[in-house]
Amino acid sequence: MGGWLAARSAGQLSARYGKIEDMVVSLQVALPDGRLLETLTAPHPPCGPDWNQVFVGSEGTLGVITRATLRVWPYPASRRFQAFRFPELGRGLNAIREMLQADLRPAAIRLYDPVDTFFSGTAKTMEQAGPAGAGESDMERISHEERRRRERKDRFGYWPRRLVPYLLQPRLLNRYLSRKRPCKMVLTFEGEPELTALELQIAQEIGARLGGRDLGEGPARHWWEKRYKVSYAMSVAFDLGLFVDTIEVATLWDNLENLYQAMREAIAPHAFVMAHFSHAYAQGCSIYFSFGASGRTLEERLKRYDQIWKGALDACVEAGGTITHHHGVGLLKAKWLEAEEGGAQPLLKGLKQVIDPSGLLNPGKLGL
Ligand SMILES: Cc1cc2nc3c(=O)[nH]c(=O)nc-3n(C[C@H](O)[C@H](O)[C@H](O)COP(=O)(O)OP(=O)(O)OC[C@H]3O[C@@H](n4cnc5c(N)ncnc54)[C@H](O)[C@@H]3O)c2cc1C
Repeated sequence: MGGWLAARSAGQLSARYGKIEDMVVSLQVALPDGRLLETLTAPHPPCGPDWNQVFVGSEGTLGVITRATLRVWPYPASRRFQAFRFPELGRGLNAIREMLQADLRPAAIRLYDPVDTFFSGTAKTMEQAGPAGAGESDMERISHEERRRRERKDRFGYWPRRLVPYLLQPRLLNRYLSRKRPCKMVLTFEGEPELTALELQIAQEIGARLGGRDLGEGPARHWWEKRYKVSYAMSVAFDLGLFVDTIEVATLWDNLENLYQAMREAIAPHAFVMAHFSHAYAQGCSIYFSFGASGRTLEERLKRYDQIWKGALDACVEAGGTITHHHGVGLLKAKWLEAEEGGAQPLLKGLKQVIDPSGLLNPGKLGL
């Protein structure tokens, strides 16, 4: 819990339940001089500054969180799934925006860019998808042998192996894949059955109006069941001498495609890159880039890794994005933080000086 709170993190169902800062009711924090600070346990922040929010996201630089009281929800009585395929990215983004601005609260809503759609292993599933309300038919139509074959591919890192030779020249691979257009969206709703049925119906209407092809629930169920598997594929990539990493940023709706294109262009010369859009709000959304690259020597790989981060975060700041959405700042992003703090960095430094004058706690994190 301490790391989750200190890094201002987000679970996969944040569109409905919020990030950790939305769940925190009160905290106990050990300060560097040994005192224990207890914030008030109240239904909403009391008057004056909200001290919970001073320590949430402070990445261990101001105190050690030793206890937290959080809001919790009952286990949902129902869960519904839905997927769409949009002819291009802009329409999919508009669909998320309309759904959130219509006050729908999907537990998860994820739109994959064309490259991520291509690689997410459901391209064939999508082609076979049935009409609206087709339920699981698209999954059922895949034979048992076909499923086993795909699982074997997953397990042994099918795509990482296939991509190795191309990752020394990622520009070509990115250019080839940029011709892909369709984008997949997966949605889940959870809560009382009457409410989830209504939310699903409204989402289907919005999706259809914006040109989304109804893929039934199969691809969304597939995501739900496999959503933690990516970590295993990452270790296969590392074993093959590749490096992979992720960058998550956010911005308002009217700047989202601009930010996406700017960062994609900055990363593409150095790494194979794809993205998905998740953690959505009525006012904007986060973009989660995944990249993979290689190099002939360790030095070349390290140099390339640094080039990717520098290019991507420079482009992000230039395009008006936030340098992180839920992974935190740490040491890696500290030098870009000042650019987005709107002049507040001296205040943060002053607070640090008052609370931790000897600089005991997490030196260097958040640029402190
Ligand atoms: C493969 C991978 C997937 C990830 N996926 C997600 C994701 O889906 N969503 C998401 O939000 N994040 C994700 N993250 C990043 C995420 O922010 C952190 O990994 C995680 O939230 C931090 O929790 P932790 O317990 O691992 O903390 P740690 O990594 O141990 O610590 C994180 C920071 O908090 C500080 N800290 C730890 N405990 C305390 C405490 N008690 N009081 C004060 N400071 C403290 C540490 O000093 C450190 O600076 C992912 C990371 C990886 C590697």
